Amino acid sequence: MNTIIKLLKRFVLKYKKYVAANFILNLIATLFSLFSFATIIPVLQILFKVQSQQHSFMPYNYNNIGQLVEILKNNASWKIEQIALNNSVEASLIWLGAFLIITALLKVGCSYLGAISLVPVRTGVLRDIRRDLYNKVVSLHLGYFSNEKKGDIISRMSNDVIEVEASIISSLEVIFKNPIMIIIYLTTLFILSWQLSLFSLIVLPTCAWLIGKIGKNLKRKSLLGQQQNGELLSHIDETLGGIRVIQTFNAQEEQKQKFSFLNEQLRKTFNNIHIKYQLAHPISELLGTIVIAVLLIYGGWLILHNFDTLEAAEFIYFLVIFYSIIPPFKDLSKASYSIQKGAASLQRIDEILNTQPNIVSNKNIPIKAFNNSIKFNDVWFKYQENWVLQNINLEIGKGKKIALVGQSGSGKTTMVDMLPRLYDIQKGEILIDGKNIKDYNICDLRHLMGNVNQDPILFNDTFYNNIAFATPNATREQIECAAKIANAHQFIMETPQGYDTKIGDRGCKLSGGQRQRLSIARAILKDPPILILDEATSALDTESEKLVQQALENLMQNRTIVMIAHRLSTIKSADEIFVVHEGKIVEHGKHSELLQQKGHYYTLYNMQSF
Ligand code: ADP
Ligand code: MG
Repeated sequence: MNTIIKLLKRFVLKYKKYVAANFILNLIATLFSLFSFATIIPVLQILFKVQSQQHSFMPYNYNNIGQLVEILKNNASWKIEQIALNNSVEASLIWLGAFLIITALLKVGCSYLGAISLVPVRTGVLRDIRRDLYNKVVSLHLGYFSNEKKGDIISRMSNDVIEVEASIISSLEVIFKNPIMIIIYLTTLFILSWQLSLFSLIVLPTCAWLIGKIGKNLKRKSLLGQQQNGELLSHIDETLGGIRVIQTFNAQEEQKQKFSFLNEQLRKTFNNIHIKYQLAHPISELLGTIVIAVLLIYGGWLILHNFDTLEAAEFIYFLVIFYSIIPPFKDLSKASYSIQKGAASLQRIDEILNTQPNIVSNKNIPIKAFNNSIKFNDVWFKYQENWVLQNINLEIGKGKKIALVGQSGSGKTTMVDMLPRLYDIQKGEILIDGKNIKDYNICDLRHLMGNVNQDPILFNDTFYNNIAFATPNATREQIECAAKIANAHQFIMETPQGYDTKIGDRGCKLSGGQRQRLSIARAILKDPPILILDEATSALDTESEKLVQQALENLMQNRTIVMIAHRLSTIKSADEIFVVHEGKIVEHGKHSELLQQKGHYYTLYNMQSF
């Protein structure tokens, strides 16, 4: 019950008017269903040939309001006897048939409208949770995504959200539909015969308890199922992303095997879940029938021995209503499964929603321009256990061009990732214009920097939008101008729709050099004072490297540059070169000075000279 209230408070409060409409419509629908069932009494009376007028009309007035139910019952019987006596049997049955159809129509209509009124809640809640999740995910620090797999996040954003939606709808029914039906039906039963009702009150909860017992471990099982589903999605995601490698390395068989293992594991879990879930239905049906049979025996005995004022026709009505209580009870137990499942999913969703983005600004100081210098002061950083950066000290003056070189894995990319605070350092400080970058407004800070790396990140969109990505209100002229400076204009114009051509998933329709020039155009358009080039040309062949290099030269003018280069020939002209080795800066100076030292740089340079 706690779970339900929490769920509803959290997600449904803003949709309360729909829920209220649902509540009222359900109430009316239940009342109409009582009336429609009631036709059974006169039908039986007529078939058993009631001949005389046994009831007389009782007037309604304020004095006997306490006996209203009595009077209504009496007057209904009086009316029916009148109809039966004044008309032929056939005509009476037609009257009753018409009454039945009309009440049923009203009942069905109200139920339908009631169900409809929950549709906006359903779709709204789904949208809200998805939106919250997405907004959260894009705000989370990069470190989060290496711990949690992509497929798992996708699974939480799709399947788990649907589970939660289902469980919210179930909760609404548990609170606003089934109890109304149960209360109204039970009241009617008590009015008809309190002895029989009391008897059934003992039997029903016993059944409900029995049914509830079956699904105890369903929550645990469905958590497992969702988690396995996440693994499967991760695998699919990896396959789609790496299909090129999989095919060229002939790794299809291994991938297939891994997939079928995950697939089979998921199947087993869901086998288990479905079997348990299906069990609920037959068991509750069987129990229901047993209860009815017991009631039939006990009620028949009461009537035959005149222990109860119940008439035979009313007894049948009693049984019909009693039978109608069973489905709402059954729904209650089904809803409790669904709520359990939803609670499990919500737990997984909350794991994302409750993650605090740990890259936040301390003082939110605005910074609109870069004036002076960037300084690393005894910087230490690690992703997991081992320090990846140790005791890094360096200074970059405004307008200077510095280069980081070193073996692959030495920590160069990590170092530049610290500047826009993709990760935060654990010890030391990084200063821009004398202030710690942790104190600046993050948006402003990132605005100062542009980044071109080895593997340009492009989106499945048009050339235009990919270039305008970081600068949404750029004009067409500005975009074309940026593309021209980046040597991209020409090849863009050669595509069928020019700037409006779509570039495919991650730019798969383009060559490496073209992709690189697009990302350079993007950086040119953003026009940042600080530019980070992380092996921007190392993935290219010599021909396109020339074009990209030219584009880069255009981009680098009048900026502060941090350049990481694999090929040392491209950084000879840097103002200062820092040699990184196993996370430490081991040498620094100009190209010629470093060569003279005959240290790491000298070795690296000589390895590349032929
Ligand atoms: P470089 O750019 O010099 O080739 P990187 O900065 O990319 O080197 O990597 C430095 C070290 O940090 C490597 O040992 C690498 O394995 C590790 N590393 C890089 N990224 C991550 C990450 N997201 N999680 C954990 N370790 C990482
Ligand atoms: Mg790198």
